[in-house]
Amino acid sequence: MAGVIRRLDETVVNRIAAGEVIQRPANAVKEMIENCLDAKSTSIQVTVKDGGLKLLQIQDNGTGIRKEDMEIVCERFTTSKLQTFEDLSAIATYGFRGEALASISHVAHVTITTKTADAKCAYRANYSDGKLKGPPKPCAGNQGTQILVEDLFYNVSTRRKALKSPSDEYSRIVEVVSRYAIHNSGKSFSVKKQGETVADVRTLPNASVVDNIRGVFGNAVSRELIEVGCEDQKLAYKMKGYISNANYSVKKCILILFINHRLVESSALKKAIETVYAAYLPKNTHPFLYLSLEIAPQNVDVNVHPTKHEVHFLHEDSVIESVQKHIESKLLGSNSSRTYFTQTLLPGLSISGGTEVKAPGATAESTERVYAHQMVRTDSRAQKLDAFLQPKEKPPPDPEPAGPSRKDSVTKTVQPDVVEMDDADLLEALGQREAEEPKGEEENSVAAHDVQRKRPRKEQTEQEDEDEDPTVAASPKRRVIKLTSIKELRAEISENTHKGLQEMLQNHSFVGCVSPQWTLIQHHTKLYLLNTTKLSQELFYQILIYDFGNFGVLRLSTPAPLYDLAMLALDSEESGWTEDDGPKEGLAQYIVDFLKKKAEMLEDYFSVEIDQEGNLTGLPLLLDKYTPVMEGLPMFILRLATEVNWDNEKDCFRDFSKECSMFYSIRKQYILEAEPGEEQDAEVNCWRWKVEHVIFKAFRSLFSPPKDFSEDGSVLQIANLPDLYKVFERC
Ligand code: ADP
Ligand code: MG
Repeated sequence: MAGVIRRLDETVVNRIAAGEVIQRPANAVKEMIENCLDAKSTSIQVTVKDGGLKLLQIQDNGTGIRKEDMEIVCERFTTSKLQTFEDLSAIATYGFRGEALASISHVAHVTITTKTADAKCAYRANYSDGKLKGPPKPCAGNQGTQILVEDLFYNVSTRRKALKSPSDEYSRIVEVVSRYAIHNSGKSFSVKKQGETVADVRTLPNASVVDNIRGVFGNAVSRELIEVGCEDQKLAYKMKGYISNANYSVKKCILILFINHRLVESSALKKAIETVYAAYLPKNTHPFLYLSLEIAPQNVDVNVHPTKHEVHFLHEDSVIESVQKHIESKLLGSNSSRTYFTQTLLPGLSISGGTEVKAPGATAESTERVYAHQMVRTDSRAQKLDAFLQPKEKPPPDPEPAGPSRKDSVTKTVQPDVVEMDDADLLEALGQREAEEPKGEEENSVAAHDVQRKRPRKEQTEQEDEDEDPTVAASPKRRVIKLTSIKELRAEISENTHKGLQEMLQNHSFVGCVSPQWTLIQHHTKLYLLNTTKLSQELFYQILIYDFGNFGVLRLSTPAPLYDLAMLALDSEESGWTEDDGPKEGLAQYIVDFLKKKAEMLEDYFSVEIDQEGNLTGLPLLLDKYTPVMEGLPMFILRLATEVNWDNEKDCFRDFSKECSMFYSIRKQYILEAEPGEEQDAEVNCWRWKVEHVIFKAFRSLFSPPKDFSEDGSVLQIANLPDLYKVFERC
């Protein structure tokens, strides 16, 4: 049975058309915000009831509508913005079809209150189905326009039912308002529910784009933003915006895209951007981007769909590729180190020995040909990262940085002339030492070497005399330690050495300090991130064990009362002191008395000097030009009394060395505590200098990295340079 074809009633046609343009309250809000902006408003306030289905009110301070135009503003195809078809290609305003208000008035009750600058008063008029319902009535009002939309879709029950929930619609409205607010920094926006006094989003007229992003999306993203901007004459486009760096990611990609100041979507661009970030972000996480593209109007096809969401433009693929490249280059340029942290494998470093780590030359010649593009600079004399970061600035000129000294009571100076180790009974003939000590021991005793260099002149002469005798060339004053406990501890270290890591540390190129805790080095073509804290602690432990009984002294400039140090430690949170432990004063006194009893042994073996009055006067010189950060001293003293097993010889030496190495290690908490400014800069320089020229220098010769370090995250391979170069090539 064929249906009868009838002409549709005009209002039904309009209603269907209206539904095309205005699919949900948020569309209406978008259209009306664009109208406000077209009317040069600087303040736009949106009020919503029931997700906009009951009420939508948009108030602006723009040019207003002339009284004589009020009759036709809600008719279809009436617009003040476009006259001829040719104008379409150079459209600079949002609206151009005169469709939005008409559509809204076909599916809702619309009231417009408006005042232009030269009108004596404001006028108010009601509209329904695109028609003015009665003559505009004069009323009070400021310049600008207020559009009130009530009972949206009251006559389109299917649309009404299709809309999920008022709260869902409301959040879409908030999304639209906040995105326009971000794009239009310099203008103030607010959106709130009717009856509420506090706005859900509010931006201020003097806020920046980043301020607005912070206001809407929070601090976590706003502090990880990179500013982007590029331009291409040939493709006739400009782009600017802010994108999140590789440290930030979200579950769902947020792409706020404006093309010619219109909020749009472009699935092609989104896809292109996501591919770039996929290389930087953890799996299944996504970036945040705000991008504003300006494309020559004649190249943009704004006419795709009445909702104007998906936009297409000429040379779309080329423009997208150009934007993509720019974003990738910005991402690479930013500090994206954190993304590499997931990789903990150490390919090329076998636990058994250095055999798998071939010299680059050998690999090239014997196995495969290396092309120029595969070559990577691995020369350790090559420029370091610092050269780029702090041009001109040299490490502290003082060859012996005094070290941070903020506690007057424990200020110390290096006293190079305190090397009186030769009074001990244990001093034995050098010939004997060489016969007994394991081979290679000399390299493991830099402290002893360095100590020599600092001998007072008198002894220097003596040493020079000895130097003439080839059999006593090395360390004339070194004592030989025959204690089984120490020999065992040394054996434990050497048996547990990771040969691959050792080879790597011996031949590394220092790249730079990432933070007090992390240092970047290069070995052959690979970049490694090393945990400076853990490695330096182990280094000092090994020095304490190997140079046992042979340390120089760091003399404190002012003797530090052990009692005060113990009290300081007990007062700190770190000590974990509770009332159950008894009064602090008693404990502190106990610690003083206890350590005084051990003073002779501590001085003899570890160069820890304690005087008759219970003052600490000296500490071991473990590495030339290195002084520990004195903030750690109180805890060190406390832990000597609480953490060391003094009853068993081997345990005692091990425990003491562990505690002492912890105190000497490069640690985060004691650095950067100074007030920002010159003092802090000096400290940072001092710390960086120590790490590079003292600690990492010692790693080259003195260190036997334990096997654990290859597995516990102390050493991470973060990149293979040839791979990195490939990434750069793509830019
Ligand atoms: P378009 O924006 O495409 O011209 P609209 O239906 O959105 O069509 O608006 C119709 C006309 O109403 C606009 O051209 C403009 O002259 C006027 N108008 C609408 N909103 C405002 C406003 N907030 N301030 C000033 N004029 C407005
Ligand atoms: Mg419009």
